[in-house]
Amino acid sequence: MEDLNVKGMIQNKKLARSIADVSWATFVTYVTYKAAWDNKKVVPIDRFFASSKQCNGCKEKNTLLSLSDRIWVCSNCGQEHDRDINAAVNIKEEGIRILRASKSA
Ligand SMILES: [Zn+2]
Repeated sequence: MEDLNVKGMIQNKKLARSIADVSWATFVTYVTYKAAWDNKKVVPIDRFFASSKQCNGCKEKNTLLSLSDRIWVCSNCGQEHDRDINAAVNIKEEGIRILRASKSA
């Protein structure tokens, strides 16, 4: 799960309403205790991890991606991405990477 900078995001007038609607902090609390009931782990992903900008195919970073770009094409490999699905896959893979690293440590 992404560790979003909710306070900072709410200061952005364009994002404030959406973030408040989702009530991210409450959502994180629910997911965390429900995971604990089921002996599952919630892995926080660093807020500076480039979940949206990184192409899930070739890992190239799209530094030109803006918030209004909902669909984008990777300039390196040509893969077309839905912004949210690409970010979700990157977050899932990063979570698995962190879990594996913590098990082998
Ligand atoms: Zn790519």
